[in-house]
Amino acid sequence: MRRLTHFIDGTYQEGSSTRSADVYNPATGEVESTVSLGSKADLDLAVTSAAKAYLEWKETSLSKRSQIMFAFRELLESRVKDVAKLITKEHGKVLSDAEGEVRRGLEVVEFACGVSHLLKGDMSDSVSRNIDTYSIRQPLGVVAGITPFNFPAMVPMWMFPIAIACGNTFILKPSEKDPSASLMLAEMFIEAGLPQGVLNVVHGDKEIVDGILESKEIKAVSFVGSTAVARYIYSQAAFYGKRVQALGGAKNHMVVARDADLNFAADAAVSAAYGSAGERCMAVSVVVVDEAIADEFLELVAQKTRQLRVGPGTQESSEMGPLVTKEHRDRVASYIESAEVQGARVVLDGRESFDETTKGFFLGPSLVDGVSCDMSVYRDEIFGPVLSAIRVKGFDEAVELVNANPYANGAALFTKSGGLARRFTREIDAGMVGINVPIPVPVAYYSFGGNKESLFGGSHMYGTDGVQFFTRLKAVTERWPESNLGDGQGRNLNFPGTH
Ligand code: NAD
Repeated sequence: MRRLTHFIDGTYQEGSSTRSADVYNPATGEVESTVSLGSKADLDLAVTSAAKAYLEWKETSLSKRSQIMFAFRELLESRVKDVAKLITKEHGKVLSDAEGEVRRGLEVVEFACGVSHLLKGDMSDSVSRNIDTYSIRQPLGVVAGITPFNFPAMVPMWMFPIAIACGNTFILKPSEKDPSASLMLAEMFIEAGLPQGVLNVVHGDKEIVDGILESKEIKAVSFVGSTAVARYIYSQAAFYGKRVQALGGAKNHMVVARDADLNFAADAAVSAAYGSAGERCMAVSVVVVDEAIADEFLELVAQKTRQLRVGPGTQESSEMGPLVTKEHRDRVASYIESAEVQGARVVLDGRESFDETTKGFFLGPSLVDGVSCDMSVYRDEIFGPVLSAIRVKGFDEAVELVNANPYANGAALFTKSGGLARRFTREIDAGMVGINVPIPVPVAYYSFGGNKESLFGGSHMYGTDGVQFFTRLKAVTERWPESNLGDGQGRNLNFPGTH
């Protein structure tokens, strides 16, 4: 059985830990490989390598850094399909979706290619007599990223291209459920000319995460995962004096107004609820439908959902693959049961698509109508192909309902009214808003992040927020007396003013 090991200092290293975890192929249910679960000693190796590499990397010119980013971009572009295959094998999502994931990560690499522009500071001439002020952005040092299973290539690429382009060195702790894609990316970056030690991958679980949080050498932590862990990361990182951004879970609502194009909206709801088997932090998990059109709209959703083809991600005809593990599949299925018990109507039951003899962690798409806000199918983040429907009396009730939810990642409105759309954009409490767009993941030159339980910390991910997160701002106030001979001001004990 293949053992996936750490990637430290530009080479694969076994590490000293004997602990490991199984990595499954969710489409077959079989263990394909094992991954080392590193110890703090393994992390120390990576930290030492990254700290040494930082001394040289931070001095590397902007043009050299962007040349390496461009070379990485070219390599990645030529191997999108290879990375996608690894994702499908370990995560389960269908190949076309995996490719889409890699491409969204690639966008961030392209953004980071412009680092020379992004790191330009400001300059003000003569802020006071013969005094100039300018600002520079400097890297932080060794920084770390801890990432979830659901986007094993894209989420790491939300972080490391920008951090590295800004002059930091990086330690990535990917999800232990699908660790191969990050290894391929790290190898490729070194092949593109990145010096050894600038990007290291250390596998593991809580032990490595705690090591990252406690390490004095690691200056910042970027985290994406569930809200419970995000909260922990945020508080611990702050306790240890680190810069931190921790993106958590979500419960994304799609509001369907009575004037919406129902066929268009139903296609969007089905795509956004069941794509990647609902294992997306921006998946639509609740449709909030005006009661005037609810029957017609939900009938369309049910019709379209019945046509979905569920199967292995490698099969071209499949639109939706399996879930990532058996435990997760069973947990998701338990919410269909609880919805029934709590009085909702299960219109489509994904449990019917598998039994004890099914190989792989499959669960068909489920649609649950008549959901109310006190039911666990609504309250909890399910992270699977279960779409809840809530009927409301109108727009105001819909907005109030969405805003009362503790999560606030994405929210979408489907309408033909510009006025309603404008009100939604302004009144809704969500970090990312879609108008007739169900999954409003911002492009790489904007930034990604939610509010409330969906993000702890002040910075969003990637875009200019990413540049700010991975750099420290310094303002310099400068005077050269010899540039203006005879301008000596003599002694003055007052607080310096501007004149
Ligand atoms: P997770 O929180 O279980 O794991 C995320 C990372 O934290 C992994 O690397 C894991 O090894 C580590 N981890 C897990 N438990 C830990 C613990 N007790 N202590 C320290 N580290 C721990 O999340 P997941 O199941 O891998 O991913 C799914 C979750 O991620 C969902 O909640 C989803 O909404 C969220 N997510 C959010 C975004 C976003 O941008 N807001 C994006 C993708 C995924």
